[in-house]
Amino acid sequence: MTSPAYDSSNIFAKILRGEIPSHKVYEDDHSVAFMDVMPQAPGHTLVLPKHPSRNLLDASPEALSQVIRVVQKVANAVKDAFDADGIYIAQFNEPSAGQTVFHLHFHIIPRHEGTALKPHSGKMEDGGVLAENARKIIEAMS
Ligand code: 5GP
Repeated sequence: MTSPAYDSSNIFAKILRGEIPSHKVYEDDHSVAFMDVMPQAPGHTLVLPKHPSRNLLDASPEALSQVIRVVQKVANAVKDAFDADGIYIAQFNEPSAGQTVFHLHFHIIPRHEGTALKPHSGKMEDGGVLAENARKIIEAMS
């Protein structure tokens, strides 16, 4: 089945254009990382390529190779900042696979032994908490 084309009215495209705010932890010429507003665990961060693609299936190899380096960088910072036992990295392609926002992104979620994840796209986190979690990740990267 053919997937729909990229639609630049998606919420992450608006964040990339600066039309709506986010708690950003990293940005370079090709990629950006910010806090997920409905975290599945404290420190849940999203990493996106700036280049538009709906998901991984239509992304360019160049954009993928640039963004995966940032995924690794942010994952290490999140692990340090939240003293995590492990890091769960997730990426969904199309609604049937759980994708709800249609600009390619990777979820970076700290895991602690014995602690269950909260539901995907569950409860909105307080802005102050997101700001403090972003600060910890930025500090771990510096
Ligand atoms: P997907 O299901 O597409 O892989 O994940 C989309 C993610 O985006 C979800 O985890 C959801 O919590 C998050 N999200 C939805 N709207 C916003 C928003 O406006 N800002 C941020 N930072 N995250 C969002």
